[in-house]
Amino acid sequence: MTIEFDAAVFRAPNQPLTVEKVTIPSTPPPGEVLVRLRASGVCHSDLHVLRGEWEAPAPMILGHEGAGVVESVGEGVTTLKKGDHVVLSWTPSCRRCRYCTSGRPVLCDMVSEHSANHLSFDGRSRITSADKADVYSFAGLGTFGEYTLVPESGAIAIRNDAPFPQSALVGCAVTTGVGAAVNTAGVRPSDTVLVIGCGGVGLNAIQGARLAGARRIIAADISDDRLEQARLFGATDLVDSGQEDFADRVRRLTDGRGVEIAIEAVGLPRTIESAYEVLARGGTAVVAGQVADGVKISVDPFVMSDQELSLIGSNYGSSKPASDFPLLVDHYMNQRLDLDSLVTSEIGLQDVNEAFDRMKRGIGIRSVITY
Ligand SMILES: [Zn+2]
Ligand SMILES: [Zn+2]
Repeated sequence: MTIEFDAAVFRAPNQPLTVEKVTIPSTPPPGEVLVRLRASGVCHSDLHVLRGEWEAPAPMILGHEGAGVVESVGEGVTTLKKGDHVVLSWTPSCRRCRYCTSGRPVLCDMVSEHSANHLSFDGRSRITSADKADVYSFAGLGTFGEYTLVPESGAIAIRNDAPFPQSALVGCAVTTGVGAAVNTAGVRPSDTVLVIGCGGVGLNAIQGARLAGARRIIAADISDDRLEQARLFGATDLVDSGQEDFADRVRRLTDGRGVEIAIEAVGLPRTIESAYEVLARGGTAVVAGQVADGVKISVDPFVMSDQELSLIGSNYGSSKPASDFPLLVDHYMNQRLDLDSLVTSEIGLQDVNEAFDRMKRGIGIRSVITY
């Protein structure tokens, strides 16, 4: 038995996604759950694939930032049941490898082996196109379609009174941004934090720094509109990162010292280098932005050792999705995190290509597809 549904499918770079009929088994294989999506964010990482900046197989259902309801569970599933509200995780974890057992599930062996290749844990796809071809699911999720099959650990139960569009964003931008500040950087109340890039990830890094009690939060972007939004999310100081004297201006704001933490949320070599260059002695620069394949950066290693600087990467906010997703949803419901202002348009699946046009032109923060 199969279920037929519409999905937005990537067939080749730099072409619009095509909305087409696909099918999925109605009975989950052992260890998997069938989720009926209610909302999916449209994220910059989807655009990387669409533009051909990330190598990706086709045909593939894009989308990796989803929330929905468990429709049915496969044999052996114990943590989820039909009717549970869930946020999907693009790092489902095996719970057995050395990363899972040492508290770093986003680095799980199974993620690098299969989910990152847009397949299920058995290395196969679950979705079939109208012409009977296997269809990949982006990051093993493919949330630009109403149904998906994921490993049990790829669907995290949340409270059932949270709205789906806001909850969906917890599945990528919110966890990535808040986690970069709270988990990866470990922001403390004595820290001055610089966030470069005030898009979906950057604004969440700003509110993560606020949640962690940062002394001062400097937001940097080249767009005045985005800087104004940054203030709403908790930035205390705003700087135009496109200016020649960007580093000087950050130093002036910090009495010449520089910042303890700099979070890069753009994904460009120049902004990553800038984040590193404005650190105070002993400071940490966090790369949270997603760069195109093959990009390189240049830093001064003498300064790195002399001043004990750290340059570290943050994948999915160094999160533990199973505990962090429900926590972040709680913070939202208790008004400690603003997710409402992130959702700047709710659209139907048919309008997904226009959402990418808005993203390219820098209009709004997040478009969310609702089913
Ligand atoms: Zn994303
Ligand atoms: Zn694992």
